[in-house]
Order: sequence, then structure tokens, then C-alpha cells
Amino acid sequence: MSEFEAIIGLETHIQLNTLTKIFCACKADSWGEPPNTNICPVCTGLPGILPVLNQAVVAKAVLLASAMHAEIQPVSYFDRKNYFYPDLPKGYQITQYDLPLACGGYLDLPMPEGYTRRVTIHKLHIEEDAGKTKNEDGRRLIDFNRCGVPLVEMVTGPDLRSADEAAQFVIRLRQLLRWLDVSEADMEHAHLRCDANVSIRPVGVETFNPKTEIKNVNSIVSLREAIQTEIERQIRQVEAGKPIEAWTLEWDEDATVLRKMRSKETEADYRYFHEPDLLPVWIDETWKATLLQDRPELPLERRARFTRQYGLPEYDADILTGERSLSEYFETAVTAYGGDSKRVSNWLMNDVLRMLNESGLSASDLRLRPEHLAEIIRLVDNGSINTSTGKSLLEKVESSGKTPAEIVEAESLGKVSDEVAIRSLCAEALVENPEQVAAYKSGKVTLMGWFVGNVMKKSRGKADPQLVKALLEELLAQ
Ligand SMILES: [Zn+2]
Repeated sequence: MSEFEAIIGLETHIQLNTLTKIFCACKADSWGEPPNTNICPVCTGLPGILPVLNQAVVAKAVLLASAMHAEIQPVSYFDRKNYFYPDLPKGYQITQYDLPLACGGYLDLPMPEGYTRRVTIHKLHIEEDAGKTKNEDGRRLIDFNRCGVPLVEMVTGPDLRSADEAAQFVIRLRQLLRWLDVSEADMEHAHLRCDANVSIRPVGVETFNPKTEIKNVNSIVSLREAIQTEIERQIRQVEAGKPIEAWTLEWDEDATVLRKMRSKETEADYRYFHEPDLLPVWIDETWKATLLQDRPELPLERRARFTRQYGLPEYDADILTGERSLSEYFETAVTAYGGDSKRVSNWLMNDVLRMLNESGLSASDLRLRPEHLAEIIRLVDNGSINTSTGKSLLEKVESSGKTPAEIVEAESLGKVSDEVAIRSLCAEALVENPEQVAAYKSGKVTLMGWFVGNVMKKSRGKADPQLVKALLEELLAQ
């Protein structure tokens, strides 16, 4: 039995998060809104209309193209892709065809196993979305809200070799899109759509075999599962001596099975021609330079810099650069703290991230500012408060909006390090628990932790545990 490798390419459609649609002033995002409420004569293709290109669409697409290391073309054209479908009121889609906005490009995927997979794209173009149809009670209903919503289409080369790599591509692409603020990139809301082309071949063979196309996956989990299922089906098919047919498959998320949609037709004759109602897109060099000047450092560059500059483990750097605002939060906190960066990273990853996950907020929305975090860590460092008080302070700052120092003062959370007071609490604990004292004295020294806990409780968490332990040892030795 020969070993097989999978050859996977992804076709992605990215909904740009501009305020308005690509060729009219209708609101672009209609998620959750009643059907046919964000429409006008332009996006519904009424006779006599003229499209006007939204500059923000070009700006976001150029930003993305540059982050994908693609070559931005000084001149590109819009084309009409003619086909008849009920959700396409003009009878054609305005897209870009042979002269797209950008050519070439790639995205690197650092894989958890330690290698990096480079995924190429041939081109990147902008286009308008079509509407939606749905069947209800034997009728076909059409919602035109999505007509004219701006999309970027990117098709990858056949560079991915496993379902995990395909999932990783979408994870990294989503990260990049949100980082650049060009798309909400939410697969569940179809801001990011992904079809997969899958074929297999024996390892060592360079030719390509017939591929199938998987459509309608709307989460990264589904994408991975659908591709894996299809790879296994193709291997079974080939091992049974049967051919692979070029099907289009649909992922049924509930049943977790692939269903055949139709045999893949040869490419339809779309009769492309340059859109006569729109001028070519000229990218002005000065405009582009100004736009790209503000482009943030890219996620993978920042990840590498975090390990280099702050000496963070790759694991920390990866998590802290998962989201742009979190990475900025970290750097501001490190500067404000002025001490060991790893210590800031630990507090962020253990405690602040949990707060973010529980609240669904992003780091930039927190009332607990990076300066507050730095202050709390310093208070712990200089012994003003103990660690558990520090951790509870995080929540208190977040819920009250007050500074850590104000809360420590108002609630007198300062650590009790008055030796006389703690000594009397220790003595009290020993008097109250004669059995444990006897057990300790007869050799059960592990009870020390229990005694310390008892005294900490009496001090309502404010005693310095080191001091408590020392005093207890002293008293028990008597
Ligand atoms: Zn409109």
C-alpha cells in the first residue's frame, strides 16, 4: 500500500468591513437585519444606474495585498461576469478578471510541529457580493441586502498538505484581517468564506490528480473535519481501484458528512468584458505610500520581535500577538512596569486573558489599563500586597475603574506585616487546634501548610505567608 499526500488549495472570500457597499452608499453590513432593507437602485441593478467606486474598499484591499506580500498593480480593471441567477439582479457580477488589483503574494504558516508552510496566492481582486436566496414553504425568497457588499477574493496555490494546515491558514488569515482592521473575519457570519479543493497523490509523485471542491463550510472546525473526511474518502476510493471524479461537495455540519452537490461542470462561459460604467483603478503612488506608511507591524513580525526583544518563549509571543490590541497592551505594560517582561507576560496570560475570555472584550476595551497592571505587579514586588490580593485587584480595577492604589487604600488591603499582630494570630491558631499541634510535634510536619492556611484565613488573606510560616515554626518549636 502506497502512502498518500493531500494537495489542498483554498478559495477565500473576505467581506471588507467598510461602512458602505462597494458601488453605492447603502450600509455594507446587514447581519441580522430584515431582508431587503439595505438596498437602493444601484445595488439592485435598476435600469439607468451608475456604480461609483468606494475608495475605502480599494484602501483596505491595498492594505491586505501589501500584508500578503503581493504586487499591487498601478492599473487594474473591473469586469462583468455574466450569469443568470435570481440573487444577481443585474444579470452580471462586477468583479476583476485578467487585470486584478494585485498579483502574487504569500502567507507563511508557522505550524505547531515547528516547520513553516508558505502558502502562495496568484492574485487578489475586489468584487461585489451577490444577494441570498432561500427556500421557504415551496417558495423561493430573495434578500438583496448582500448585493454590492465589498469582497476580496484570494485563491491559494495547491500548497497545503493536510487538513491541519488548511485550518492553520484560515486561523492566520483571520488573525491578519482583524489585525489590519480590514474585515471582521467571522466565518460564522460569512465575513470569511472558504471553499477547499482537495486531491491526493502517492508521496513522491509530482503530478496532480482530479480534485473535488468542498463548499459551505462555516467554521474552522468544520473546514478541518470536511477536508479530513474527503482525504480519507479519496484514499479509500483509490485503494479500491476506483477513479476520483471532479465533484462539488457540500459539508453537512449536523450530520458531519459530505454530500454531492453536482458533478463539477466545465467553467461556464461568463463572457467577461471590462465594465464600461467604471474607470480603471489607478493606484496613485503617493496615496499608496501614505496608506502603507501607517500599516502596523505584521503579526508574525511582531511575534518574532517579542521573542528577540523581550526574551519571551515562543509560546508566550504567539499568544500575546494573537490579537493586535493584546500585543499593544503587553508592550505598554512592559514599559510601564520597567522590570522583567516575562513577569508581565505571566500576569497577562494567566489572569488578564481569563478576564478577556470571560467578558468577550478585547484588550483595548478593558478599564484595567496596562499601567494599572504594571502598578499591581509592582505593589506585589515591593511587598505592599500579596499575590492573591494582587489578583483580586485586577477584577476590582476592572469593575470600579479606580486605580489599584486607590482601592488598596480604601479597602485597607495592604499586607499585614505587623509581627506582633501576626504572632498573636498564630498563637491563637495553635491554642484552638491542640490535636493538630500534638500531631505536628509527633512528626507530622506536613501540617505546617494547614496551620499557615488557618492563620491566613484569620488575617483575611492579608498576612505575609512567609512571616506566618516563620512565626509558626518558632512557636511550635517551643
Ligand atoms: Zn445600494
